[in-house]
Amino acid sequence: MPEKQNINIIWFTNNLRIKDNESLVKIQQENLPFLAVYVFDSDFYQERQFGFRKIGKFRTQFLLETVLDLEKNLEQIGVPFIKKFGKTAEIFQEIGEHFEIETIFCQEEWTRDEIRLQKKVETFLPTTGWSKSYSQLMLLPDFVFHQIEKTPIQFTTFRQKIEKHITVREEFNSFKIEKNPNIESKIKSDEIHLKLLGFEDFEKHPSSAFPFSGGETEVLKRLNAYFFEHQNLGTYKETRNGMIGLDYSSKFSAWLANGSLSPVSVYHEIKKYEAEFGSNDSTYWLVFELLWREFFKYVSMQHRDEIFQIRGILGKTYHYDADENIVQRWIHGKTDSDFINANMNEIRETGFMSNRGRQNVASYFCKILNQDWRIGAAYFEETLIDYDVHSNYGNWMYVAGVGNDPRNRTFNPEKQAEQYDNDFQYRNLWLQ
Ligand SMILES: Cc1cc2nc3c(=O)[nH]c(=O)nc-3n(C[C@H](O)[C@H](O)[C@H](O)COP(=O)(O)OP(=O)(O)OC[C@H]3O[C@@H](n4cnc5c(N)ncnc54)[C@H](O)[C@@H]3O)c2cc1C
Repeated sequence: MPEKQNINIIWFTNNLRIKDNESLVKIQQENLPFLAVYVFDSDFYQERQFGFRKIGKFRTQFLLETVLDLEKNLEQIGVPFIKKFGKTAEIFQEIGEHFEIETIFCQEEWTRDEIRLQKKVETFLPTTGWSKSYSQLMLLPDFVFHQIEKTPIQFTTFRQKIEKHITVREEFNSFKIEKNPNIESKIKSDEIHLKLLGFEDFEKHPSSAFPFSGGETEVLKRLNAYFFEHQNLGTYKETRNGMIGLDYSSKFSAWLANGSLSPVSVYHEIKKYEAEFGSNDSTYWLVFELLWREFFKYVSMQHRDEIFQIRGILGKTYHYDADENIVQRWIHGKTDSDFINANMNEIRETGFMSNRGRQNVASYFCKILNQDWRIGAAYFEETLIDYDVHSNYGNWMYVAGVGNDPRNRTFNPEKQAEQYDNDFQYRNLWLQ
């Protein structure tokens, strides 16, 4: 039997981009041929929690579009890529039968499911080395833990300490390489389509506030349009509580969540905008919101699995009634509040809901319907196109009063509707 060729692997997970991808640049600098891999993990598409899937049709379609776009972009810079459907560890084992895998380059993770998956691969490939990068973060841990000893409970404390000396690293620049045809020919990519992943094809809702497609190519266009062509960034603070249409907020969340957009790139684009058009409250506010995203990542880094537990990171008793009927009425937009119902219809039909809506429906679920907040979070996890483990569980804990808001406030949906949907435009759109 001929000796196996030594290679490195870049394992793409939630870092689905070529711009500012540390793992990609690092592997390119090694003196060894390499292969890029993405796995649609079959277990992940089967699993259920509180009866909900871990990923629903909206995010699956978006992810599929993202991976196909990545494939095209990698092709252009000469990087061999395979996409597979199956159990991740077995796929790595299959690759290991053809090649001697020296090092796997991937994103650093610290949440339950992601760590479990990496551990499984480690078990199958005990001699392979690992090189992990913090590619989902805007702020590097070295910088953050120089400013604070540990993640504080209150966002304001975190923000103020970070803002004082904020340092965001430069972007990583990948480059074109000479393609090595031997590598791809040994293992074939799978044809991936929605049906294979357990979903029927579907059309996007015509009123969706998020009609975009997945992938780095699409988000770079979106960023350019939102910042520079239409200069929406300059009025972001005034529009960000809107609920209808494409431009009340950046809509970057879904791309940030699967890593087809780097938060570091967004930061530098904001700075470019400020240099060209001037800074104001709005340009500051987008960085402020990105700090919220960052904050929840540092919260989960510190508290690990506590973010999935009913008592949250505060270890507080959370009282709830377990009523499946009530949960179903919330999901199907059949509560006593028309404002809540409109929002729940929007997320069910489109996979997206504004931040204003999310705050309200989550507060209603926890404080007025008195249900287990983890069920609401699990429904969001299945349904949201922009689901991100840190932001979703961080925000749900916050609203439920077991997280980073010790004040434990309740939104009044009537007052909120009056303030944010005084002319009924939003409710008329989603209550038909
Ligand atoms: C109960 C609940 C669950 C949520 N679940 C998620 C989730 O799974 N994934 C997710 O990305 N966001 C989540 N959010 C946060 C927020 O609602 C969305 O990030 C935002 O609505 C996305 O729209 P945008 O990209 O246009 O935001 P913009 O207003 O344009 O903000 C820019 C970016 O800042 C970040 N950001 C803004 N608000 C928050 C926030 N409250 N927490 C963390 N990051 C924020 C996002 O990355 C966002 O893309 C949740 C909020 C609540 C109340």
